[in-house]
Amino acid sequence: MSTNSAYSAPAPDPATGAAVKATDRAHVFHSWSAQALIDPAAIAGGQGSYFWDYDGNRYLDFSSQLVNTNIGHQHPKVVAAIQEQAAKMCTIAPGFAVDVRAEAARLIAERTPGDLDKIFFTNGGAEAVENAVRMARVHTGRPKVLSAYRSYHGATNAAINLTGDPRRWASDSASAGVVHFWSPFLYRSPFHAETEEQECERALRHLEDTIAFEGPQTIAAIILESVPGTAGIMPPPPGYLAGVREICDRHGIVFVLDEVMAGFGRTGRWFALDHWDARPDLVTFAKGVNSGYVPIGGVAISAEIAATFDERPYPGGLTYSGHPLACASIVATLHTMADEGIVENAATIGEQVLGPGLRELAERHPSVGEVRGLGVFWAVELVRDRKTREPLVPYNASGAANQPMAEFAAAAKRAGLWPAVNMNRTHVVPPCTISESEAKDGLAILDEALTAADAHVTG
Ligand code: PLP
Repeated sequence: MSTNSAYSAPAPDPATGAAVKATDRAHVFHSWSAQALIDPAAIAGGQGSYFWDYDGNRYLDFSSQLVNTNIGHQHPKVVAAIQEQAAKMCTIAPGFAVDVRAEAARLIAERTPGDLDKIFFTNGGAEAVENAVRMARVHTGRPKVLSAYRSYHGATNAAINLTGDPRRWASDSASAGVVHFWSPFLYRSPFHAETEEQECERALRHLEDTIAFEGPQTIAAIILESVPGTAGIMPPPPGYLAGVREICDRHGIVFVLDEVMAGFGRTGRWFALDHWDARPDLVTFAKGVNSGYVPIGGVAISAEIAATFDERPYPGGLTYSGHPLACASIVATLHTMADEGIVENAATIGEQVLGPGLRELAERHPSVGEVRGLGVFWAVELVRDRKTREPLVPYNASGAANQPMAEFAAAAKRAGLWPAVNMNRTHVVPPCTISESEAKDGLAILDEALTAADAHVTG
């Protein structure tokens, strides 16, 4: 993509970098971290597919931060829209009708499937999930929500209890009304399946059984990521989402698809659900809707669920719901993505560069057990032994046990690539705007860094 790639990083300024770091360490309490064990890099700026520190190191961003900068860093059109909106009206309460909020909602509704035409805005993804659950519970009058073991849905109360990774454990109230089940993942099949068809059929049967034994009349919603992201970028087998839709219909259960990470171009379509016959009742979104330039998320709501709240007040709200600066950035982002063919670029880069390039790396590096994904949403599963599929590091490893992954990440950073690393995987998730030559540069660095992982292969 042309608009984003030209940039000039300022001259290195290590003294400022050291001062930023010292103040950060004195006063910033960081997410998900043992505060004394972290060493956050001090970052001076970014542009397009790159960001840089104060010491003269520039990184190709293969993480899109937390998989949110779908249009890259500092897209000039979106920066300008935020500046213009700031000059006009920084904030206004959610109860008023305002141009950018109405237009942002209209543009999102234009892209959501079916009759999901009403948009409730939140400040981010977790609150979107929180409110989707609230809508489903009020709509059905039922308490329980089913979610997948391999999932991430956010860190607020309902969202973290729905989450299926170790970050839930410390907050698991065991009374949040959540029941977990296994979603399909052929490479580590919970159902001992050998084909996508078997995995799909057995996963649907397992879900049916879970519902039967929980009592369908107690279940308000099933929530799934269309493509589970943080948990390993696992596109569902054909037929799975349609099968879940059918089960929900049969039992009067609300079907929620979480598109917070997979939505807005990441998979090479506007929504990941567009790849399949999914038909959800509610869709949660955040991140890519405006690349996170100003915090925002939301829920797209079907006509039937919206009608529940026609005469009865919706029991939820937020001071900053539909914040004008965030909404202005959504309007500019969605226009820019359409005008510049950014979603199509993500699809092409996936089909022609990242997919073939990663599969080629898999052939040459014994530490690569599997690559999977679509668009600019790929996982490279690292293993000690391709035959047994033993992960390169144990589940939820830290410290010395996580050393092989730490070595891989350090090698990538030394060579100028910022990788996304989760457990025994690296996720290849650059901006949707990445050019072919940038993607190829990144693959060349991964090639080099994977030799660090290969050194731990035992099989
Ligand atoms: N849902 C999914 C699928 C996510 O990937 C995330 C964040 O990574 C969230 C929800 C939570 O979003 P946020 O961090 O904006 O609260």
